[in-house]
Amino acid sequence: KQESSPQYVDLVIVGAGPAGLMMAMWAAKCGIKTKIVDKRGTKIFNGQADGLQCRTLEIFDSFGFGHRAWIESNHMLEICLWNPDKDGIIRRSDRIPDTIPGISRFQQVVLHQGRIERFFLDTIESCSDIRVERGVMPSKMELDESLFEDNEAYPISIRLRHLSEDEATPKQTATSANGTVVQDGLFRSNLAPDDTQELLNGAKLNAKANSEEIVHAKYVLGADGAHSWVREQLGFKLEGDSTDYIWGVLDIVPITDFPDIRMRCAIHSASEGSVMVIPRENKLVRLYIQLTRTEKLGEGGSRADRSKITPETILQSAQRIMAPYKITYRKLDWWTAYQIGQRVGTQFSFGERVFLAGDAVHTHSPKAGQGMNVSMQDTFNLGWKIANVVKGVSDRSILKTYQSERRKNAQDLIDFDHRFSRLFSGRPAKDVMDEEGISMEEFKDAFVKGNLFASGIAVEYGASILVAKPGSSTKQGDGTDVAVHSGLRVISTPSLAPKIELGKRIPSFKVLNQSDARPSHLQELLRSNGRWRVVTFVGDIRDSNQASKLKVLGDKLASPDSFLHRFTPPPPARYDDVFELLVVHNTPRRETTIFDFPPVWHPYDEVDGWDYWKIFVDDESYHEGHGEIFKNLEISSQGCNVILRPDQHVSYVGPMEGYEELDKFFSAFMIPPRVTTKAGT
Ligand code: FAD
Repeated sequence: KQESSPQYVDLVIVGAGPAGLMMAMWAAKCGIKTKIVDKRGTKIFNGQADGLQCRTLEIFDSFGFGHRAWIESNHMLEICLWNPDKDGIIRRSDRIPDTIPGISRFQQVVLHQGRIERFFLDTIESCSDIRVERGVMPSKMELDESLFEDNEAYPISIRLRHLSEDEATPKQTATSANGTVVQDGLFRSNLAPDDTQELLNGAKLNAKANSEEIVHAKYVLGADGAHSWVREQLGFKLEGDSTDYIWGVLDIVPITDFPDIRMRCAIHSASEGSVMVIPRENKLVRLYIQLTRTEKLGEGGSRADRSKITPETILQSAQRIMAPYKITYRKLDWWTAYQIGQRVGTQFSFGERVFLAGDAVHTHSPKAGQGMNVSMQDTFNLGWKIANVVKGVSDRSILKTYQSERRKNAQDLIDFDHRFSRLFSGRPAKDVMDEEGISMEEFKDAFVKGNLFASGIAVEYGASILVAKPGSSTKQGDGTDVAVHSGLRVISTPSLAPKIELGKRIPSFKVLNQSDARPSHLQELLRSNGRWRVVTFVGDIRDSNQASKLKVLGDKLASPDSFLHRFTPPPPARYDDVFELLVVHNTPRRETTIFDFPPVWHPYDEVDGWDYWKIFVDDESYHEGHGEIFKNLEISSQGCNVILRPDQHVSYVGPMEGYEELDKFFSAFMIPPRVTTKAGT
């Protein structure tokens, strides 16, 4: 057995699926020392998750690879609902937009998980030295709780075992009609037994693969899927139920006379179950099929016998549901089968040192296209927080918000999935008296309402140290809403911009750069790099009132004891390494220049000169219309300051005169940089 000398890292990520890769992405952008391991020898190449919701695309765009997903994917624009008519024949009963128009600059698309993982890997590689180490899994984790509150300590030691190529390759079954091996997803399906222990045992016996290393870490993320080893080490459980519904999934190039095969369809047959049709890239179509006939659950709700489920049996079910239309295929790309379980982890973190994310803390049915999206959004929430703490910008108190924000979201997701699965899997009602059947009106309604939830745009974080939002007991005598942070009271005034909702991600409209007239979406200015933003919507600076408020604010921000200067490290850190100050105004663009604005919004650097990317204007562009951001966000003529978290969620909305509120907000959790002496302390 070889054992190399111990390594010290800020973060160990176990699992390089969507959740683990999103975490690695933040680590790469924020520059923290990270090790990411996965027990599999390769990434996924086909199958698995495919739906990307519009919020996920916004997030990808903030990391610089949204365009790759947007170009390569199939775009889903319409949902067709097919239901049985009075004679039991399926007919198209409705069409609804797939993404609610206007909620985002992106719409839902589909692209298989393998490509998405590729985009992550390429981007991580291009900006850091973080690489996924494959065929590596942890075999032991030890925690020293006495060191948990010490920022400089490495309280976790984790032993990593290297597997052989054979052990790291999931077994595939030869299942297609002509006997060729088709990639299937059963090794990750909840119908397959977990192979973690098997792999560990295999590695023990295999002398070649038996090398181990010890890593000391400040933080660990378990993004190791539904069978999470990390979760098991912590003794945490998933709570919830397994349901009776068994679903099969086929990725095929179909040959069919069904007219809506290139639309997303929900098809309810009279008595043969339901199919969801998802048109995919490369002419592929995914069918999610409820299996009703030959494949029965074991007694007492135990797992189904998956040997009875094959691509042929799944196809036969689809043929029965979609009759009288015919459907078959020449090419089968991937398939799987699963039983719906709806569970949420009891805890998402242990001592804010070991965290769990993704399928490790929530499992549910895949057909609402949520798992991968929500898993990535978990670590999109967590990554910048850990990076800010590791870099000494924030204290550890902000880490508590991970569980409060994401566990609530996971519970909402399970509730949504519960409702949606029942409506999708149930038999259509024959008439209004048929109480056991599902009303198709109710189904449509759930689809329309569910679309907002499913888009990821509706996610709203509650009052906390990071969201200055009225909590449960923070109404003052005069009716003002107050959020309490560590004894400091920060008052938001949401009425100054009713469409910028506290706790939600900021909506996006086009603005022009004051210096070069180039249009961009507001969100495009909010790159994911770990920085906080204070956006001042000043209005028209020809109005002397607004101009003077901006000047006062600019002077306060420029003062040596402002939060900007107290919490930003000295050079070589950049002036905007911790906070980016942006201004959006609606003075006619041609009547002003950046030099009409206080210097804090066009900082000067001895080497680089002026910064031209901090002042933006709400005005007509030459080629891309007028974003009308003031009107669309209903910003008061008084203007306002908005604090945006590094993940684009809104922390605070308040008056331009409210510099003190900004200072109080940041002072509640930020740490002044440590002064480095000659001795290096
Ligand atoms: P995983 O993707 O499971 O990744 C976990 C990783 O950890 C794996 O790479 C695994 O090899 C590794 N690992 C596990 N244990 C260890 C260990 N002990 N040591 C080291 N590494 C380990 N979601 C959607 O959003 N949209 C969809 O359309 C969609 N469709 C789906 C269709 C199907 C058929 C299925 C099965 C799922 C679908 N999902 C969908 C769900 C989605 O695939 C998952 O929710 C998502 O992959 C979860 O990401 P994750 O990173 O948490 O876990």
